[in-house]
Amino acid sequence: MGQIINGKEIASKLKEQIKNDISNKVNNKRISSILVGNDGGSIYYQDFQEKLAKNLKIEFEKIRLKEDTSKEELKELIISLNENEEVEGIMLLLPLPKHLDEEEITNLIDPSKDLDCLSDASVGKFYKGKKSFVPCTPYSVITLLKEYNVKIEGSNVVIIGRSNIVGKPLAQMFLNENATVTICHSKTKDIKEFTKKADILVVAIGRPKFIDSSYVGENSIVIDVGTTPVDGKITGDVDFEDVIDKVKLITPVPGGVGALTTTLLFKNFCEGLK
Ligand code: NAP
Repeated sequence: MGQIINGKEIASKLKEQIKNDISNKVNNKRISSILVGNDGGSIYYQDFQEKLAKNLKIEFEKIRLKEDTSKEELKELIISLNENEEVEGIMLLLPLPKHLDEEEITNLIDPSKDLDCLSDASVGKFYKGKKSFVPCTPYSVITLLKEYNVKIEGSNVVIIGRSNIVGKPLAQMFLNENATVTICHSKTKDIKEFTKKADILVVAIGRPKFIDSSYVGENSIVIDVGTTPVDGKITGDVDFEDVIDKVKLITPVPGGVGALTTTLLFKNFCEGLK
């Protein structure tokens, strides 16, 4: 039976590191988190950010704006946070209400404060290997593998999913670690031909239990990024029960990749630009 990667345990360890780092940071800098509207997932996530910040003793400003906030009001707010020297990090929860252009708004965030790596300038720096914050979901995947001493260099990595927030930046991070990377997507012919040969298989498609044991190679490592609610339960893209006996290492859902992402957002804050 494969070993299960314990994301919660790694998150706890990271939290202790962050508490030490933050106590050495002798300033009053804070994070401002902006939520526009009433998206249920975003409200839950922002409350979770606030709770975690409190636990980590990080100054946190929770900003909640009305659903009908105008583009001008939101722009003014982001510009004022960019200019405020006490604000060291800005988070903007997505999706924004439909009348607000996400592209235009995220591009207003100063890259030196863009903890979530949302603006084009931040993304450009990330891909060019310049100092930037690191997108947290891919960062979580790489952190989990390193914590379990998985040798990434030289390994054959297959990622299913090519979104801007997961698949693409993750491919870049694996390349930086000297892996050989293949990205599959909805138009890939015969995905199994690729996935069965992978040393490390990462699945980020949002299709519950799509990957069963016929997709995975013996002794491979499987990382499940998927988080889709099914009958009120968060469900991954991998049929965990079906593949666990075949693989060497696997992340559960929940308790795997997702357990770490918000903690890494705060780690970004503590470490500053890399
Ligand atoms: P997305 O933007 O919807 O992208 C999904 C990707 O999967 C696309 O590239 C799509 O291909 C591909 N795909 C869909 N169906 C496929 C199929 N049958 N075969 C092969 N490829 C297929 O999703 P996302 O934002 O990357 O999120 C993916 C999953 O991760 C979701 O469940 C999301 O909730 C979860 N997630 C979790 C975390 C976390 O912290 N744990 C963070 C972010 C996202 P095309 O490009 O060809 O359409």
